[in-house]
Amino acid sequence: MAQLEIHQFPCLSDNYGVLIHDADAGVTASIDTPEVAPIEAALAEKGWTLTHILNTHHHGDHTGGNTELKGKTGCTIVGPKPEAAKIPGLDVAVGEGETYDFGGHVAQIIETPGHTLGHIAYHFADDRVVFAGDTLFALGCGRVFEGSMAQMWSGLQKLMALPPETTVYCGHEYTTANAAFAVTIEPDNRDLLDRVREIEALRADGKPTVPTTIDRELRTNPFLRPAIANVQRHLDMVGADPGDVFAEIRTRKDNF
Ligand code: ZN
Ligand code: FE
Repeated sequence: MAQLEIHQFPCLSDNYGVLIHDADAGVTASIDTPEVAPIEAALAEKGWTLTHILNTHHHGDHTGGNTELKGKTGCTIVGPKPEAAKIPGLDVAVGEGETYDFGGHVAQIIETPGHTLGHIAYHFADDRVVFAGDTLFALGCGRVFEGSMAQMWSGLQKLMALPPETTVYCGHEYTTANAAFAVTIEPDNRDLLDRVREIEALRADGKPTVPTTIDRELRTNPFLRPAIANVQRHLDMVGADPGDVFAEIRTRKDNF
């Protein structure tokens, strides 16, 4: 089994497309399908043939290319069991605690409801990478559209428990806006301030700020830090339940 090769590229206005590939197994998956043309261009550039689509949730900017890509390639579509009826062309429905074998690379399925009720993340432990969709972003987290704040917080806690060196791919380039908000929550977090400068430099060069790592997010992402004393102090919520602190931070971001 070869190492998993990963190729990320922009789609739509601020989505990321991601292809994962194993040369020995001859498999290539698109993580979600935001937009057909850039996905096909990326496949052509790499010389890879699409065999799978791994969907994280049902939103159109994550499943919009399913039908066309499946029609052209006959690829297998994997997606969240709780959203089976909403994922176009779904072949294999997966849920919490299950695994999906992608050419010998085993993805552990982590249910992270909140952004949508059935949202899942794909954790390839041996490859030290997680595809987090719209649950966890660089310095941010997804909007809580369908689930509750408590659900979102418990899903994020599952991602926080992954090995710190785990690489995190996410659905969008939202980092500049997330950074502007993050410094309002923790204006004196040295790691955050350093990271904001890095982000500004990357974006000025037109470079992506994604992927990130669990460790980097734990040190700087306010949505993963509601149990941290410094965050609670700035919010005047010292000793509060971290779930309540998370809900306060998410609500502030919604109104930012
Ligand atoms: Zn979404
Ligand atoms: Fe999205």
